[in-house]
Amino acid sequence: MDMTRIRDRMVEHHVTRRGIRDQSVIEAMRMVPREKFVPPGSEEFAYEDAPLSIGEGQTISQPFIVALMLEKANLDAGDTVLEVGTGSGYASALISRIARHVYSIERHERLAVEAKERFEKLGYRNIDVRVGDGSKGWAKAAPFDAIIVSAGAPEVPTALKEQLNHGGRLIIPVGGGEGQRLKRLTRTGAAAFEEEDLGGVLFVPLIGEDAWTASHPMYTATAPSLPGTIASVPSSPQDAQGGGMGKIDTLPALPEGVLDHSEFQQRFWAVQRISWIIFALLLVTCLLGLLGRGGPFSRQTLLLPEGSVDFPVISRWNAPEDVTVTFTPSSEDRVFTIDAAFLQSFSVQGIDPPQKATFARDGRIGYVFPADPAGPTQIVFRLQTQLPGPRRALIGMGGETRTQSTFIFP
Ligand code: SAM
Repeated sequence: MDMTRIRDRMVEHHVTRRGIRDQSVIEAMRMVPREKFVPPGSEEFAYEDAPLSIGEGQTISQPFIVALMLEKANLDAGDTVLEVGTGSGYASALISRIARHVYSIERHERLAVEAKERFEKLGYRNIDVRVGDGSKGWAKAAPFDAIIVSAGAPEVPTALKEQLNHGGRLIIPVGGGEGQRLKRLTRTGAAAFEEEDLGGVLFVPLIGEDAWTASHPMYTATAPSLPGTIASVPSSPQDAQGGGMGKIDTLPALPEGVLDHSEFQQRFWAVQRISWIIFALLLVTCLLGLLGRGGPFSRQTLLLPEGSVDFPVISRWNAPEDVTVTFTPSSEDRVFTIDAAFLQSFSVQGIDPPQKATFARDGRIGYVFPADPAGPTQIVFRLQTQLPGPRRALIGMGGETRTQSTFIFP
C-alpha cells in the first residue's frame, strides 16, 4: 500500500502545524516510511502521533518528539551524528537523510539486528549500528557534531559530553520515571557547555554503566496516563522497571513522548479548563434560577446614614422593576436623589406613597418625602427597565451618594 499521502498528512498535522520549521527535518519525515519501522500488523498505526511497541519492552518514538529532537540538534548535511537507543531505527533513518553519517547504538541485540536489516532493505547506507551500552558513547567513531539520546538518563553521561565536537549539540532527556526534561547541551569549550531546557518529556530509561543502574535506584517506571501518548506493553520486564533497580511487582506500561509540549500549551490548557468550569457553574446557577431576575442574587441593599436602598442588580430589558427606599425615623423632611444615568436604566412609572415635592439640581433629581419621627418610612419606586447592558447610576439620601449597578439582559 502506498502510504505517501497518509505520511504527508501526518507531517502536516503533527509536525509542521505544531511548530517544526526545519525544512531538512520535514523533508526527511516525508521521505522515511515509518510503516517499515513498526512491527507487522501495526502499520495502520504508523502515522498516529504516538509511540508504538517494538518488542523488548521498547517503543518507536512519537513522530513529533523525534522531529523536535532533530530540529533542536541543528543537523547539517556534513554532520557525523551518534544516536543512542536505535530501537526500531526510525530516528537514525531520519538523521541519515539529513546528515553525512550516523552511528547508532542499541543495547538489545534483536532490535539492533532488525534495524540493520531495515536500513539495508531501504538502501540507507550511511548508518552503522552496534550493540552496546550507549551511555559510554562510541569512542572510536567520535567526535560527533550531534548526539541524540532516545532514552531518559538520570544525569548527562560524561562520555557523551566528551565525545562532542566543539560546537556539537547533545539532545538528551534527563530525569526519573515520572518525567524527564529534554536538555540541549552545546559544547562551547574543552570543558564548557551551554545547557538549555527544551520542555518536559517521558522516555523509556537509558540503561547502562553511566545511566540507570543499581547505583541509581530511584528510577520507578510509573505510567501516568497522558493525553496523546499510547502506552506500550513491556515485553521485557527488566527494561520497563529500569534493569531490576526498583522493586515493582506488576509492571505498568511505559508511555513515551511529550509530557508538556510547551509552557504556553500547558497554560492554555489550564485556562481552557478554568473557563469550562466557570461556564458550567454559570450554566448550573442560571438553570437553577439563582442568577436570573427575581432569583436570590438578583437584588442588593445599599446602606446609607439616613436609611437603605434595595434595588435590582440583575434584570431584563423592558420589564417592570422596583426600588425600595427605607428612611430611618426623622423629624425633618427626607430627600432621595437619582442622576441622569439612573433614568437611562429605568423609567419611573410611579412612587408609592407619592413624594411631597420634586426638584432638579446639579444634574440630579430629588424626591422630597415628609418627616416621620414615629418610625421608618418605606417608599417604593415602580420602574420599567430601559436600555440593556451593564448600567451604573448615582443614588443618594440627604447629602450621601452611592453608585448602584444593574445588569439588564437584552
Ligand atoms: N529512536 C528509536 C526509534 O526511533 O525507534 C526509539 C528508541 S526507544 C525510545 C529507546 C531505546 O533505547 C530502546 O530501544 C532501548 O533498548 C535503548 N537503550 C536503553 N538504554 C540504552 C543504552 N544504554 N545503550 C543503547 N541503547 C539503549
